[in-house]
Amino acid sequence: MITMTRLATLTALALCAVLPAHAAQQAAPQDPPITIDTHVDIPFNYMREPRFDAGKPTPLLVDLGKMERGGLNAAFFVIWVPQHKLDAAGYAKAVDQAEQKYDAIGRMLMQYPDRIRLATTPEQLLANHKAGLLSATIEIENAYSLGHDIHRLDAAYDRGARSVGLVHVGNNDLCTSSLPDTEHGEPAMNSAGDKGMSEFGRAVVKRANQLGMLVDISHASDACVRDALKLSTAPIYATHSGARAVLDHPRNLPDDLLRAIAAKGGVIDAVAYKEFLKNDPGREAAEKALQAAVAKQAGDKKYDSDKHDYLPAMDKGMAEIQKKYPLATLDDYMDQIQHMVKVAGIDHVGIASDFDGGGGITGWANAGETRNVTAAMRKRGFSDADIAKLWGGNLLRVWREVERDADRH
Ligand SMILES: [Zn+2]
Repeated sequence: MITMTRLATLTALALCAVLPAHAAQQAAPQDPPITIDTHVDIPFNYMREPRFDAGKPTPLLVDLGKMERGGLNAAFFVIWVPQHKLDAAGYAKAVDQAEQKYDAIGRMLMQYPDRIRLATTPEQLLANHKAGLLSATIEIENAYSLGHDIHRLDAAYDRGARSVGLVHVGNNDLCTSSLPDTEHGEPAMNSAGDKGMSEFGRAVVKRANQLGMLVDISHASDACVRDALKLSTAPIYATHSGARAVLDHPRNLPDDLLRAIAAKGGVIDAVAYKEFLKNDPGREAAEKALQAAVAKQAGDKKYDSDKHDYLPAMDKGMAEIQKKYPLATLDDYMDQIQHMVKVAGIDHVGIASDFDGGGGITGWANAGETRNVTAAMRKRGFSDADIAKLWGGNLLRVWREVERDADRH
């Protein structure tokens, strides 16, 4: 697996030198200089099952055609693993699952070097865009997949990862989560038992700073965010988070943390994720019931997003749910962005979809509709200069600062 991924990366890089760049992206006159979505998920069988071949039309919300047509220039593709137990078997499983995703991204880069290339630096990302190519940056979501071994962070960097998301749903060996597993006894966020960052978490942040990797606090508990702010020598960022003052959800950040991340020079990438934008318990319940029904129909005991999400029965059921409980809209999303800009400042907010990880709203339902986001920002009165910052300018500034900080270590 490692060989495959390395080979993929090296091949993609080597081809940069020899292949003529195709002007694959169709830029529109109104497009911002660069559009970067800092959170795009992939299924475990990405690039293995024919239906998940990103170079062809797929049921996925992000594939190369949708990015090209919609004017989405770059995406941070996520090495996500779910949280298992903090024991040897759990770590081994997480390492394996991460491996599958590195391999999948490697396959995409190897198979479509004339459409998308790896970006491990801001300059590379901009150069890809200039050459008419899409960019893929690799991001770890849930550093539990390091298998409690700091050396795996170096290995991740070597294979192209440039962002490390500390935690996901449920506490891990680095950090407490904004959504701890309270059913299994984990203390609630901001309770006396919420310990924030562990020694291993601190070691990972320190090493990420030295390597020049972005530290991502989306999903982290408030206490963990505060610890990261104290500890990190470079600005930190949130790849996909909302504003708690607009919608009271633990995954959204309170104003004081939005301000603190901005004060440290970082960026908060506002996420187009339904439940962080609109409180709709009816829809949540209906979706859960549909998931259970589709799993049962497929002969499975439990719903598995990879297996069941793109089945016709799921699509049909979701269309019915959408009629009864409409999704959050671009207006809801713009409300959050405007609040974040008011609190954190125009230099500290960015954009993320969480497509294929539960993200997507009415108006920005897949990467093909990316220009609707730009139009919505314009409608809210953001200038072209503001829009350029929100769509990637701020993120690139933070990334460069993270690189500069690493040089100082
Ligand atoms: Zn997430």
